[in-house]
Amino acid sequence: MDCKLRISGIVEDSIVDGPGLRLTVFVQGCPHHCPGCHNPHTHDFDAGYEMDLRDVFDKYEENPLLAGITFSGGEPFCQAGPLATLAAMVRDRGGEVITYTGYLYEDLVQKSIEEKEIADLLAVTDLLIDGPYLESLRSLESPFRGSSNQRLLLLRQGHLAGRAPEPLTLPLRSMEPVQEETGHDWL
Ligand code: SF4
Repeated sequence: MDCKLRISGIVEDSIVDGPGLRLTVFVQGCPHHCPGCHNPHTHDFDAGYEMDLRDVFDKYEENPLLAGITFSGGEPFCQAGPLATLAAMVRDRGGEVITYTGYLYEDLVQKSIEEKEIADLLAVTDLLIDGPYLESLRSLESPFRGSSNQRLLLLRQGHLAGRAPEPLTLPLRSMEPVQEETGHDWL
């Protein structure tokens, strides 16, 4: 098991990377180079610094108010193996996992046939926020996303069935549980 992550940084109490208070891990390295990307310093795969998974998890455990962990970037699926391990640790503690990606979900499913680590990270991701940042579709109205093409996809079940789950459309800026409206109890 690869126990190290190459990261750009960590925000320990984010309220902008998913519902609730979250530990956000910005991984280092991204192949997408979306024009207008807000995090260009995360593109270089050799920049940033290494951190042991256990040390990241210790930060997560330090704050009992955290609702979960968010993987942002950079491109999380370029370090899918160690992130899948970390995500499983968080889920064992009752936290939920949000993963951002510049790939489309359908492409990740295709890649996961040959790259087990990608299947592993998909399997422990509760909510996937997918797609590249498109400047022409820049949006301040789409919660937790930079452009309106990006989707919130609830993956908790059946994500390898061969088609994308229904996009999630919720008042996600609310900090209140939304179980009644959605039937989902993970928020
Ligand atoms: S996928 Fe994200 S980090 Fe990578 S270039 Fe696009 S917006 Fe930037």
